[in-house]
Amino acid sequence: MPRVAFIGLGRMGHGMAGRYIAAGFDVSLWNRSKAKAEDLIARGARWATSPADAAVDADAIVTMVADDEASRNVWLGEHGAATAAKPGTLAIECSTVSYAHALELSRELRGRGLIYIDSPVTGLPDAAASGKLTLLVGAEPADLERARPFLAPLAGTIRHFGPVGTGTVFKLINNLMGAVQIASLAEGIAMAEKAGLDMAIVAESLATGAVASPQVIRHSRRMIARDFAGASFTAALRHKDAAYAVALAESLLAAPPVMGRAAVAAYDLAKAAGPDDDEGKMIEIVARPKGPH
Ligand code: NAP
Repeated sequence: MPRVAFIGLGRMGHGMAGRYIAAGFDVSLWNRSKAKAEDLIARGARWATSPADAAVDADAIVTMVADDEASRNVWLGEHGAATAAKPGTLAIECSTVSYAHALELSRELRGRGLIYIDSPVTGLPDAAASGKLTLLVGAEPADLERARPFLAPLAGTIRHFGPVGTGTVFKLINNLMGAVQIASLAEGIAMAEKAGLDMAIVAESLATGAVASPQVIRHSRRMIARDFAGASFTAALRHKDAAYAVALAESLLAAPPVMGRAAVAAYDLAKAAGPDDDEGKMIEIVARPKGPH
């Protein structure tokens, strides 16, 4: 049986790790907090005492953690996976990290003889648990071919953008555009509410009109209903993605990324109000009552 070390069992990682167990892989697990692993251990996965312990004898190491700092810890920390992985092991980073971090991690891991590919994902936690994620891959073609058996349990679609780092570039573009859409949607809905429009008609119009992206359709319903049960993507994570994307835009573009910076500013407020709240809850900030002048 192919051996997978899976590291990071949050909303996304828990479901992804479960896919490997269901597909019959030999799975070792590590997460910063062990409680999230208990049901996966009961399903046959081995609990590892550290990322390094998880990586011993693995054919592939897959990570799904919050951000650059978490990624650096689990790969390159004192007990990081890179300290124990054997040369030739596939190192698959699925977390959304910054472009600079993806390149730095690639350099470090390749220097230690590992085969690095970046494979951030789109899709919500339900897609992670059902193997229907879209994987946004940056890799040498031969490395991707070698990784395919380890990507297949996670993926509905695999998109290959080019060499290492390019999957992360596209993911950051995608999530920055999503941040802009959600932040501007919150302002539009708040304006419609304050102006006294029939919000059922507003909802229908947003969902069927020219601006009806999947993002707008999903969040307009939730914002209008103020229904944020079961946050699937948090304000802190959206803020992180937008900030990483703006840093990349500043390094690539001559013109200032005005829209991106505005989205980061909107998510500064949402993150300060509730970092673990659903990303769409920023409507409550935008639609708050006007104070006395
Ligand atoms: P989450 O539920 O907040 O889980 C974050 C994971 O990172 C947990 O396993 C957490 O460990 C771990 N972690 C955080 N800081 C750490 C540190 N310093 N050292 C070691 N581990 C650390 O987040 P998520 O929604 O699963 O997202 C995971 C990644 O997928 C993020 O990069 C996110 O941007 C991306 N993503 C998310 C979605 C989505 O819809 N949620 C969709 C696409 C991509 P604990 O369990 O101990 O806290």
